[in-house]
Amino acid sequence: MNINFSDKKVLVRVDFNVPLDKQTFEVTDDTRIRRAMPTLEGILEGGGAIILMSHLGRPQKALKEDGSIDVERFTLKNIVGKLVEILGVEVRFCEETVGEKATEMAANLKRGQVMLLENTRFQKEEKKGDKEFASQLASLADVYVNDAFGTAHRAHASTTTVAEFFDADHKCFGLLLENELRNAARVTNNPERPFVAIVGGAKVSDKMLLLDRLIDQVDTLIIGGGMAYTFMKARGGQIGNSLCEEDRMALANELVQKAKDKGVELLLPSDSVVADAFSNDAQFKVAPSDLIPDGWMGLDIGVYAQNEFSQAINNAKTILWNGPMGVFEMSKFANGTKLVAQAVADATKNGGFSLIGGGDSVAAVNQMGLSKEVSYVSTGGGAMLELLEGKELPGVKAMGKTINA
Ligand code: AMP
Repeated sequence: MNINFSDKKVLVRVDFNVPLDKQTFEVTDDTRIRRAMPTLEGILEGGGAIILMSHLGRPQKALKEDGSIDVERFTLKNIVGKLVEILGVEVRFCEETVGEKATEMAANLKRGQVMLLENTRFQKEEKKGDKEFASQLASLADVYVNDAFGTAHRAHASTTTVAEFFDADHKCFGLLLENELRNAARVTNNPERPFVAIVGGAKVSDKMLLLDRLIDQVDTLIIGGGMAYTFMKARGGQIGNSLCEEDRMALANELVQKAKDKGVELLLPSDSVVADAFSNDAQFKVAPSDLIPDGWMGLDIGVYAQNEFSQAINNAKTILWNGPMGVFEMSKFANGTKLVAQAVADATKNGGFSLIGGGDSVAAVNQMGLSKEVSYVSTGGGAMLELLEGKELPGVKAMGKTINA
């Protein structure tokens, strides 16, 4: 953030899309608010005034019966208390995103003061990346800072179009976004070797591009979770009632072949914890992952696979992890994910660099209390996935700047 913020009004796009309690609308996980603090504190220390903007949820998809926005549920006012508690500075809430009130409040904002605009997605124009709406947002401030990594893969008005209205000297990435890009670059550009990627989660189809790209980059690719069974079946294995995407089996075989051609070690779980129902109360036992009886489904990797995966991870100097090894939300099927998380933490202690790249693996690492024992935990699921797939994020491109490792 090498911009002089002194006496400047700074429009900051943050990702305050935090989970709220369904009844009280209180913030239930404030991680995203906390992660924005270095940027906000930096601007205030530099003598700036902050105009915050963010989206919260999907208000246009949950309209009330009369077609109006459910303001009570989606207003950013719901997060003001938590924000003030964490930032330690009064926050003036503006009940509109743009308009006369927003313009007046922004005009009266003094050095060191903070205001928060209403949910950007209350305006239909936000998701359309509308120029007029973006120009109204831009007119509130002298400088634009984008710190919303979680939405940097969306070409929306407040994340992308608004940047057009500021020249290079009046816009920059916030510290969180910069950090996310730097850590991703450490994995994608010249990673220290051996480079081990662990990919899990439910579906092959969600991670196809990621897997394909990783085979070009890694030394070892570990595939666990529900998606492993599509690979098993594609090889001719019996997977019982495990998750399977029949229409991705050909692709799974192509990926296996590609890994072979490139000399990449591809590890699939040789054994699984199988259950007779998708439930924590189900009967369970261990079976080879390619000999799962009918009526049983693989819900976690088995002990043999845990050991094999842990050994591969232990030697790594660069580790990327995206997606759990099993249905870790159920305690009976969380062991594989726990052991992999521990192996990633151990490898980090041994000098490896580990990036936990989004979504459920982030939840798993947090749940296991290991978030401080890995090198970096990303705040952006979809955005990190796209970055690792090699895509250029619209919110990053719009800034006309690059960040290297
Ligand atoms: P994703 O969002 O694709 O990373 O998938 C995460 C979800 O995959 C989690 O909710 C897990 O419970 C689920 N999952 C992981 N392994 C399995 C499995 N073997 N069978 C069914 N679901 C799984």
